[in-house]
Amino acid sequence: MKYKSIRGMEDILPGDIGAWQKLENTARKILESYGYREIRTPILEDTSLFERSIGESTDIVTKEMYTFKDRKGRSLTLRPEGTAPIVRSYIEHALDKISPELRLYYMGPMFRSERPQKGRSRQFYQIGVEVIGTRSPFADAEIIAQLDKMLKSFGLEDFTIKLNSLGCMADKAEFAGKLKKYLEDRKKRLCGDCKKRIKKNVLRVLDCKNECCVQVAREAPNLIDSLCASCKEHFEKLKGILSTTKTKFVETKNLVRGLDYYTGTVFEITHSALGGQDAIGAGGRYDNLVKDFGGPSLGAVGYALGIERIIIALKAKGQAKSAETTKILYVATMGDKAKIEGMKIAEEIRRECGLRVLTDLKEASLKSQMRTADKNNAKIVIIIGEDELKEGKAVIRDMARKEQKSVNINSVVEEVKKGAIC
Ligand SMILES: [Zn+2]
Ligand SMILES: [Zn+2]
Repeated sequence: MKYKSIRGMEDILPGDIGAWQKLENTARKILESYGYREIRTPILEDTSLFERSIGESTDIVTKEMYTFKDRKGRSLTLRPEGTAPIVRSYIEHALDKISPELRLYYMGPMFRSERPQKGRSRQFYQIGVEVIGTRSPFADAEIIAQLDKMLKSFGLEDFTIKLNSLGCMADKAEFAGKLKKYLEDRKKRLCGDCKKRIKKNVLRVLDCKNECCVQVAREAPNLIDSLCASCKEHFEKLKGILSTTKTKFVETKNLVRGLDYYTGTVFEITHSALGGQDAIGAGGRYDNLVKDFGGPSLGAVGYALGIERIIIALKAKGQAKSAETTKILYVATMGDKAKIEGMKIAEEIRRECGLRVLTDLKEASLKSQMRTADKNNAKIVIIIGEDELKEGKAVIRDMARKEQKSVNINSVVEEVKKGAIC
């Protein structure tokens, strides 16, 4: 039987990994420069952690989580997002004692059982940040500015940061009431899902991509009109800071997020390459979650980016070429003695020159080793045969120029370092 990967879960192969590593390295560098520290939480968590935070009636919890019982009968879930596990960890280890405003970031796989399609795998990867311990709009502004800078460093240009505010829980509830009333009167024009959403999760109607629902939503009451004075002030201040620091954003009427824990600022990053369906990232405030999980009453704000979607956007612009610039050197050897000598030389070149050095692992013929070197795109081959070894010599061959020279075996590394031949 031939096995295949699980539907919706994809292999990332060596030929594609360059773009991923480049993205991850750039992100790490920028995040660390803003003082973020990495946190790694387990892939598995208690199911109720997600039910309580994301919300029992959300799409994620009702139909998308990978939930199963372990051997002791406990209900576990493969994490569908990163925020709830981090807040759990933050409280469990009293991280508020480390810093009153903790900047955290994470990278790793998340799991949601959606219908697999381009940019939507069941195991997908996110880069995300959380700033826990502040309610100030300066925190919102910093992470949005940082996000903007990071996306540009990836090479992305045509993205849009859409911004809105949901207000506090009371504002959200007030708006939900108004929206419910508005939608009840127009129920006939909504899709089947949205008819159900009116009762269960009314804000999600604003997110529906069905044209009929989009039309109804266009005339719906504006969330901003339901904000209390302090939420309005927070939002105005945030917009002011972003404008003065020249971070472009588009205030977007009734932009909402599909997770219950969001309050206040919400934002979403879209890119033309993804069409209207998917955002490349999103985030917002969750000022009640730390307290809801039994921790201190602390404000928090964060975002998550979808790595696959960013790579799709970069590919659309031809910018996702792998960063395969390291030159490859192959050491071809014949006979055990030469092989051992070759291993020593390879080790020294790795240490001294920063090249990628390959040696023969099959005890193949010299001819076949030359073919392997060629297939691996080696720029330089060092050849040590039995005859060369007897004379204390080695051959350095430049594969592109098809030139070679014989050198003293003790000066091979020196010659390679000089780069005379490469
Ligand atoms: Zn409010
Ligand atoms: Zn709908």
